[in-house]
This record gives sequence, structure tokens and C-alpha cells, in this order.
Amino acid sequence: MKPITEFYSLLNTTTKAKKVLITMHQKPDGDAMGSTLALYHLLAKLGHQVQVISPTNWASFLDWLPGAQQVWDYEKTKLFSDAYIKAADWIFCLDFNVLYRTKNMEPALLNAKGVKILIDHHEQPQIEAFDYGISIPAKSSTCEMIYDFIVSSGHRELIDPELASCIYTGLMTDTGSFRFPSTTASVHEAIADLKNLGLQHSPVHEHIYDSNSEQRLRFLGHSLLKRMEVLYEYNTAIMTIPKADLLAFHTKTGDTEGLVNYLLSIEGIRFGAIVIDRDEERKWSFRSKGDFDVNEFARKHFNGGGHKNAAGGNTADSLTETVQKFKKVLLDYKSALN
Ligand code: 5GP
Ligand code: MN
Repeated sequence: MKPITEFYSLLNTTTKAKKVLITMHQKPDGDAMGSTLALYHLLAKLGHQVQVISPTNWASFLDWLPGAQQVWDYEKTKLFSDAYIKAADWIFCLDFNVLYRTKNMEPALLNAKGVKILIDHHEQPQIEAFDYGISIPAKSSTCEMIYDFIVSSGHRELIDPELASCIYTGLMTDTGSFRFPSTTASVHEAIADLKNLGLQHSPVHEHIYDSNSEQRLRFLGHSLLKRMEVLYEYNTAIMTIPKADLLAFHTKTGDTEGLVNYLLSIEGIRFGAIVIDRDEERKWSFRSKGDFDVNEFARKHFNGGGHKNAAGGNTADSLTETVQKFKKVLLDYKSALN
């Protein structure tokens, strides 16, 4: 993988409009949607033909993002998408480190001949899969890296309020609204700059955090009341969501987002884990405070990864089996968690 700075010269010297694909991890979150759409606006302004393809659908609280209506869901557009992926000159992979995070899109990406560019902040990227790229786990978000990309490649003047709101979305969601340790001075400096360029930040918070359905809030209440277990001797809290709950509350994509953060809001809790019984897998989300490394934990025990304080994993085991395994594995972490 060559450094992204070498790609800037390619970007700034090309005279021909390129066919560009931009993609991100499955079930894109605010950072994945925000970063891909910010880059989409930039490259479209530079005259390229650009298509964002998401490996799957996304939460409806991201639908307001400028450009979201033009994003293809790979699972619903496989024929068009495969043809587009095959013909793309440039393929940008944003907010993921390993190709399997694009789920059913992985084979098409592996076979694609276009120049592949990685922009990401997860640990241990699969660098052999990319031609150019930048991976900085210390960065708050991929959106921050897209801001850096735009400014360093000399295109700051192309940032308008819409593009700025895409960048702000990932800065806000991946930093837990500017509270995680990843919120550096550079994050606040980038936001100050976006504000000077016309960013309206309040509507972004409202779109994302004040868009609950009544059902979603009741689902949250039910989960906190009935599905949470606090293991005080391990400073750990765990939430187990059976499929029956997902059906009973008619949950939609995104409705389980953020649930895991409630676990860490209990005083003294340093490790929060939630497992959700999805059709195809049991999906884990792990969050921690301080030194406890959930990226390592997810990699070692649950086939996953991510960041030191936020990671995920998955298993084909049943819900009961995977929770039993979690509790067994946790025994070895008592001192690390105290
Ligand atoms: P979340 O819990 O919000 O789904 O994910 C937390 C972080 O871990 C995100 O940065 C996400 O990209 C990463 N992550 C989630 N699930 C997986 C997984 O199965 N494998 C890997 N490598 N990373 C994951
Ligand atoms: Mn991210």
C-alpha cells in the first residue's frame, strides 16, 4: 500500500473523468455514511462519475444526509453494482480494515481491477489488499481523515455546508458527541473550520439523536429492564437481545445502535458487551473505558476486531452458547478489569 499522499498527485493531475466507486463496511454507521458521502461530493465537484455502494442497508436516521438517496444498497442492486464495481477506475474503501466487512460485496471487490484506496482508522488493516491508503487508528473517525484528505490535497474551498454536515456526522457519532479520548484538538479545529465554512451543527444532532420512534424507546426500556446483567466483580455489564424481542418491538436497522453505551454509563463499569441474535449470526458489540482492550478481546474470542475501546465480533453459536462462552472467557480477565 503506497501512502495516500502519492494518490494526491494522481487525483490532481488526471485530466479524464474517472469512474469512481466508494464503499464502506456493512450496516454503515454515521462515520461510514458521512465519510463516503463527503468524498462523493468532493469527487463529483471535481468532475468525476461517482457512485457510493453500501454493502447492505442502513439506519433510517442517516437518510437525511445529503446524497444518501443516491447510494445503492448492494443487496438490492447486485447486477448493476457488480457491473459498476468491475468497470470502476478508482475504488475507495472507507471506514473498514478488512474486506470481509463488506459482506457479500467482498468477491466483487477482490476481482475488481480498479485502483484501490483505503482510508480508515481501525487497527491492523489488510494493507496488501490496497494500492494506496492511509490507516491511522489514533484518528477519531474516518470523517476526520476525509477532512484531512480534502484539505491536504488542496480542495478545502470545495467544502460547502452540505459536505461539511457529512463530515460532522462521523466526527460526532464516532466520538460519542465529542466525549471519547479520541476527541483531539484536531477534531475541534476541524469543526471550527467547518463552522467557518457554513456548517449548521444542531440539525445534525437532531437528525441522529432525536429521531427515535416510540417503539424504539420502548424497546430500549425493555432491554434495560429485562436483558441487562451487571457483573460487578468484573466491572462488566452485558446485554443479551433474543430474536423474539427484535420481532416483538418491530426493530429496524439502527434500532440497536447505541444500546451498548448505556452499559458503560453505570458507575464503575469498564466493560460493556451486547449480543444480538441476528438471523445469520450472533453479533457482539464491545465497549470499554480506560486500558481494557476490546479490539484484542474481540479478535481473540469472537472473530472480530475494531478499536481499543470499541469493537465487534460475531459467531455462529447459539445465543445461549455464546453468552456462556463470554462468561467463561471473562473469568480470565478479572484482574485486567479491576
Ligand atoms: P459496532 O459495535 O458499533 O458494530 O462496532 C464497533 C467497532 O468495531 C467499529 O469500528 C466496527 O467497525 C468494528 N467491528 C464491529 N464488528 C466487527 C467485526 O465483526 N469484525 C471487525 N474486524 N471489526 C468489527
Ligand atoms: Mn469509524
